[in-house]
Amino acid sequence: MLDINRIRDQFPITRQRFEVTGAPEPRPLIYMDHGASTHPPRAVLETYKDFLEKSYANVHRGHHYLSEMATNRFEDVTEDILRFIGGEGERNTVILCGNTTQALDLGAHVMAGRPGPTLVSLMEHHSNDLPHRARGPVLHFGVHDDGTLDYDDLETKLREHEVKAVAVTGASNVSGYLPDIHRIARLAHDHGARIIVDGAQLLAHAPIDVRSDDDPGHIDFFAGAGHKAYAPFGSSFLFGPRDLLDEAPPYIPSGGTVVYVTEDEAYYKRSPDRHQGGTPNIAGAVAFAAALRFLEHVGMDEVRSHELVLVERAMDGLKKLEGVRVLGHPSPAKRIGAVALEIEGVPHELAATILNREAAIAVRNGCFCAHPYLHRLLRLENTAELRQRLVAGEDVDLPGAVRPSFGIFNTEDEVDEMVRMIGVIRDRAWKGDYGEIAGAAACKEL
Ligand code: PLP
Repeated sequence: MLDINRIRDQFPITRQRFEVTGAPEPRPLIYMDHGASTHPPRAVLETYKDFLEKSYANVHRGHHYLSEMATNRFEDVTEDILRFIGGEGERNTVILCGNTTQALDLGAHVMAGRPGPTLVSLMEHHSNDLPHRARGPVLHFGVHDDGTLDYDDLETKLREHEVKAVAVTGASNVSGYLPDIHRIARLAHDHGARIIVDGAQLLAHAPIDVRSDDDPGHIDFFAGAGHKAYAPFGSSFLFGPRDLLDEAPPYIPSGGTVVYVTEDEAYYKRSPDRHQGGTPNIAGAVAFAAALRFLEHVGMDEVRSHELVLVERAMDGLKKLEGVRVLGHPSPAKRIGAVALEIEGVPHELAATILNREAAIAVRNGCFCAHPYLHRLLRLENTAELRQRLVAGEDVDLPGAVRPSFGIFNTEDEVDEMVRMIGVIRDRAWKGDYGEIAGAAACKEL
């Protein structure tokens, strides 16, 4: 079992306190916005600082001690990432980028030259949908009303179209739902397609194994980012097959990516350098690798078990609150710790504000950059008028949800406090006056 006190000791942010309405003393922060971004534990911060203080220089080009030290550390990052995700380095490689959005965009870029549509799930964050739309035809495969994927629809579309790639999330940032990525990979491979997995939410929440290329359920492309895995220093990666990466034109055709340039021609390096134009975020990548080692040290099975306890407790508590609806599948075992919910009659921005100002509970609210999925989960029938008003630049209250999302240092007591506060909001029993927030006054009178 995960030693929660030792873990919390590693995260100074857990000792942060804030003034809240109606309480004489500042209250300890309850950070439940891990789905948006995470904090670095001490070990990762120290690695970052130590590297900058003692070993930093530009990589690959120097013949001095610092450059050699930095280059070695930078090259080790790839090994750490490959080990963490179970990736095989001979036929695959890792391209370092800035965030998940960029890593996924690179994936779409690499597949752009291949014929056929990309089949994108309707569960995706826009980052794993719009880049494919920008590079060619896209088809979508469906989700059921309970927020799970429609595998039959996926299979039908794979049969009916010559799909080049299936794009799917490793875990939904809205419902926390965990698609069976290996089943999807097998289906994709059976039909000659590749699979691109958005691992933003999965990376730090459950064990990952992209598997050997010889396994029909292996993952071709996998994207992940440090800021969602306890290393918010601007580093991310795309894991992918060397042959496809080398066949694609360089993502950033510029310095560092070339072998030789004449006045008329440029000869580009092989991957990963081919796609990594300019000086990389060296210290960020070193810190990212330290975070992965930190997670390995804790144990990803332990991380997953701990999170499951938190999700079970949250869903159990929330389901007892009439008027509160958790979006997505009811089984905690099918989810990571992202629990989007709606409170009948209470606007999401108001609920999130009250959680913050009256209990120092940090959650996210809104649409979570996954409009099609969220609107389906919210059972919105007709969004045409809303779209028209938004596109016309009107100030519209967007439908949305409130999303607590758990991480490694959250406790069961924190979950109980979050559930209690959701009950307070449901009962309109908050203390402050939030007249400035959309719908607040009307809401309190109900
Ligand atoms: N994909 C998913 C599932 C996400 O949750 C997010 C961000 O929340 C992204 C992609 C985009 O990530 P980034 O902010 O690292 O670009």
